[in-house]
Amino acid sequence: MAFCDAHLHLGDYADAEGSTALARGAKIVLYSASTNLPDSERNLEFARRSPDLIKAFVGVHPSEAGKGLEDKGLESLSRHATGIGEVGLDPKYSAVTEGSAQLRIFRVQLELAERLGRPVQVHSRGAEQACLDNLGSFDPPSVLLHWFEGSEVAPRAAAKGYYVSFGPAILYSKKLAGIARSYPADLILTESDAPVTYSPLGEAVSGPSLIPSVVFFLSQLLGRGFAETANIVLENSKRYLEGKKG
Ligand SMILES: [Zn+2]
Repeated sequence: MAFCDAHLHLGDYADAEGSTALARGAKIVLYSASTNLPDSERNLEFARRSPDLIKAFVGVHPSEAGKGLEDKGLESLSRHATGIGEVGLDPKYSAVTEGSAQLRIFRVQLELAERLGRPVQVHSRGAEQACLDNLGSFDPPSVLLHWFEGSEVAPRAAAKGYYVSFGPAILYSKKLAGIARSYPADLILTESDAPVTYSPLGEAVSGPSLIPSVVFFLSQLLGRGFAETANIVLENSKRYLEGKKG
């Protein structure tokens, strides 16, 4: 593999076969995140079918917290998964105050990641500080902050050795470019968050095929060659998956 899409949702595609075939052609390994338990089962099945190409992350997304879904089955699913995600906090969906469903399920999953020794993928939109506070109470082997926009707390995340993945939004977001420029190069990953689309790039544009463009943009930011940057990011993604802190 030459590239890594460290965060996407294969389970959200009507036809996941199409996007995985595309990723195989472009030599892109896929870390597929889950939203809920049925989605987790789908991702485990994708990973079983294409173990070299797809790594399954299972979990309950903050948007699903408090919807009455059981998280009882989560532990057995996690034992079969490479990692745990997409977990985290987001005040856009519901309260993230003490005693809230979001905080409860986030902590349950961080404890699971620590106990089973699985890397985690964290969604932190609008709650970057709270996510770091909670992560600090647990010790999962490695942490990926996906689509991370917390410029103020980025130095704190870097000091903890947390990885950050940048997606196609970095091509037009000065804020994201600023975070990437100051973040340690050995903690940077790439993602597409597919099937998310990016309106400044045209509504039809999405998916892992955008990864080489993100790597090219990062290479310009870091002042390194394209192949060298691709290699750095790929090595980072392997260390993250192996549960090695940056
Ligand atoms: Zn996502």
